[in-house]
This record gives sequence, C-alpha cells and structure tokens, in this order.
Amino acid sequence: MNKHILIVGGGYVGLYTALRLQRRLRRELRDGSVSITIIDPQSYMTYQPFLPEAAAGNLSPRHMVAPLRRVLPKVRILNGRVTKVNHAARTVTFQPPEGDARDLAYDVVVMAAGSISRTLPIPGLTDIGIGFKTVGEAIALRNRVLHLLDVAESTDDPEVRRRALTFVVVGAGFAGVEALAELEDMAKDSTRYYRNIKPSDVRWVLVEATNRVLPEVGPEMGKWTLEQLRERGIDVRLETRLESCTGGHVVLSDGTEFDAETLVWTAGVKPSPVVSSSDLPLDERGRIRTLATLAVEDTPGAFAAGDLAAVPDLTNPGEFCAPNAQHAVRQAKVLGDNIVRYLRGQELAEYSHKYVGSVAGLGLHQGVANVYGIKLRGFPAWFMHRTYHLSRVPTLNRKVRVVVDWTLALFFKRETISLGEMEHPREGFRAAVATMRR
Ligand SMILES: Cc1cc2nc3c(=O)[nH]c(=O)nc-3n(C[C@H](O)[C@H](O)[C@H](O)COP(=O)(O)OP(=O)(O)OC[C@H]3O[C@@H](n4cnc5c(N)ncnc54)[C@H](O)[C@@H]3O)c2cc1C
Repeated sequence: MNKHILIVGGGYVGLYTALRLQRRLRRELRDGSVSITIIDPQSYMTYQPFLPEAAAGNLSPRHMVAPLRRVLPKVRILNGRVTKVNHAARTVTFQPPEGDARDLAYDVVVMAAGSISRTLPIPGLTDIGIGFKTVGEAIALRNRVLHLLDVAESTDDPEVRRRALTFVVVGAGFAGVEALAELEDMAKDSTRYYRNIKPSDVRWVLVEATNRVLPEVGPEMGKWTLEQLRERGIDVRLETRLESCTGGHVVLSDGTEFDAETLVWTAGVKPSPVVSSSDLPLDERGRIRTLATLAVEDTPGAFAAGDLAAVPDLTNPGEFCAPNAQHAVRQAKVLGDNIVRYLRGQELAEYSHKYVGSVAGLGLHQGVANVYGIKLRGFPAWFMHRTYHLSRVPTLNRKVRVVVDWTLALFFKRETISLGEMEHPREGFRAAVATMRR
C-alpha cells in the first residue's frame, strides 16, 4: 500500500527533509510504495542568510534560491498554501493559486512552514513597514533605497529630501543588523554617482527594544558590532521602541520624532499561521510542541521542525532550539531519518545539537563572527561569513553561481540602479492605452 508523506513548506526544513527521504527511500519511491509531496507557495527554497547580500547587489537573487523541482525530481511539488491541517482525518486543505481549495490525504505530515514577521499593533506600521524575510522584500528594498536617492537628488524641497534619505530599521537581530549594514554600505557606495548627496546626508536609524545588538554573536562581539555601526554614523537607539509611524512620521519611545519614507521591521518572528489552523498541540508561543525526536507530542504520524516548532534543546535542558538555519538544517536530517524509522516501525532517534555561534556580514569586507568560541571581526570575519555560507548554500550549481557573482564583483563596480519599475510592469502600457482613450 502506498504511504504518502506530505511536507508543508519547502524552505530549509522542507527541502532538506525531502532530500534525505529521496535518498533513503529510493527503492520505495521507485516501486511506488512511498510517495512524497511538498506544498509551498514558491517553487524554490530561499537561502535566507543571503538576503542581505542580494539586497546590496552583491548576489543575483536567482542564485540564492534552490529550485525545488530540479533538486527533488522524485518529489511532487504543488504550489499553493496549506490553509488547514486536520490530522485526526489525516488531510490538509490545499489552496492552489487558481481554482478552489481541495483536501489532500496523507499518512505522514511534516510541518515545515517556518515563520512570519512578529508585528505589534503600532499605528502606521501596516502602511509603511516592510519585512525582510523573502527575496521579494529584499529586492524591493534595494530598489527603494536606490530610487529614494534618485528622488532626493531630483527635488528642490529640503523636507522631501530629508524624508527620502531617512531609513529606519526596527530590530537588531541577525536580519535587522545584516540588512541595515549591507544596505547602508550600498547606499554609501552609490552616493558617489550623485552630485548633491554626500554619504553623511543619508540617515540610518536602528531601533532596538533591548540593550544589545546581534545577540547571536555573544555579548563581546555584539558590543563590538554596536561600536562599529556607530562609527559608521548609524544612529543606534537601544532600549527604545517604535511608538508610531503614521504617514511616515516616526515617533520613538525616547521622545524622538522625524519623518522617514522607509521602515524595515525585523523585530522577531512567530510561527506560520497555518499552525493555528491545525489540530496539532501548540505551546504558549503558538509553536508546535514536539519531542526531541521531532515527532509532534502525542500525535503519531506528525512531525515538525524549524521556526514553527518548539523542539527541546537537549544541550540546554529546559530550553528550546532557537529559530535559526543552523538548527533547521540539522533537524531536517534527523527528521528525514526518523520518518524512515517510523515507516519501518523502528525506534526514533533524538535531535541534539549544541549551538556553535554565528557569523554575520556587515557590508563589503566587514563582518563579525563567534564560532566555536573563535571571535573574529572585520575582514577575517567577513571572509569566514562568505566561506561558511558558500559551503551551506544548497547544490553545486548555486555554489558556482554565487562564486561567479562574487568574483565579478571583485573586478567591476556594483550595479547601483533601481529597477523598481519591474514591480509595476503594466504602468507604461496602461498610460499608452489612456492616451488613446483621450
Ligand atoms: C535575513 C535573514 C538572515 C538570516 N540569517 C541567518 C544566519 O545567518 N544563520 C542562521 O542560522 N539563520 C539565519 N536566518 C534564519 C533562518 O533563515 C531560518 O531560521 C530558517 O529559514 C528556518 O527554516 P524553516 O524551514 O523553519 O523555514 P523557512 O526556511 O522560512 O521555510 C518555510 C517555507 O514554508 C512555506 N510556507 C509558509 N506558509 C506556508 C503554508 N501555509 N503552506 C505551505 N507552505 C508554506 C514558505 O513559503 C517557506 O518556503 C536568517 C533569516 C533571515 C530572514
């Protein structure tokens, strides 16, 4: 009888679990006794640590994603969203991009839908805020920063200029600091092509509710990062919250007020909403409760890992694994093996990994690292950041393309044009039709 394994989400956990299953269940996939399906709105897995480099124009966005259908030829890929999981009936509700939703049956489900930005009810946030979790957001931000330099150069109004040249990032974790550092570096680099914009005219504000930046690299390197950012002229506000940003008028909890055209929100993540539309057990933070085996608690046939799961951290009793790629990739491998064991009626293995620290890029030739207790800063850390992520980005094909992008960047100046027009491709044609009507 065919056993159907359904994976909800084709990101880190989804891709790596499927790769493992594709290899370990080769025979079963061939004779049809097992089938695997991944459901994801996108047909690719995004290597999120490269988003800041893509935003800065050091990498082509196409080279930081792995095409699911090419990498997983034995797996059926369905594009669309899972809107409900009814594990009691072993079905998910699948909403394709076109047409009606339909139910799909499974024997084993893997919840791998990751996380979304954790937002707060701040006035104006939905109007001007943008997240930094997808390729679309990273490229839109790149286009926006470069477009606003164009706006500032072309206006006579000092207010418009000041507002265009003010960029706010809320949240000083991985995503916020790397995004800000890379975009600031790109904007600074780009000002050389503008007659009336000096690097110091562009204002970057980093707003963080706690008293530290980049906790992922530890207190010492976090402090060094803070000093570096401030030396670069970035206005870092610690122990400060965003109170409102209605119409682009930013109000901070320390009483500061100013206008900004751009606000990037990177203040944490929460599990994908599909989790709350399931009958799986959740913890108080809305994550799926799993055992260390990545099996969902008291729910045979259901597994979960990555950002949406509360996986006990066996190296740190009482704690749960942090939502990061380091855990997601390793969990996926154990998860894949455990599904094979589950299908064969064998005992499941437990996931255990001690967090080894992190590397972060802070712009071209700048970085910070704290890995296995080795602390690096500046160029060596940046080099380590690139080498590490190159070794991690999936498939040889992507690795080669990334190296080519970086090599070209050694010899040619980076592209600093905004292609924001690509977000509205029909505008020119619509204007042409309108002239005909007149
Ligand atoms: C800018 C940035 C930089 C980062 N840098 C690092 C780093 O340097 N080191 C590190 O360890 N971690 C880093 N992270 C964190 C890391 O990327 C995440 O922890 C990791 O992606 C989590 O993997 P996941 O599989 O749980 O989720 P994801 O990789 O996000 O995958 C989730 C997938 O589920 C899909 N999905 C969502 N909802 C549905 C639905 N309803 N139905 C079907 N599919 C759905 C999504 O489209 C997505 O493809 C970074 C994150 C960001 C945003």
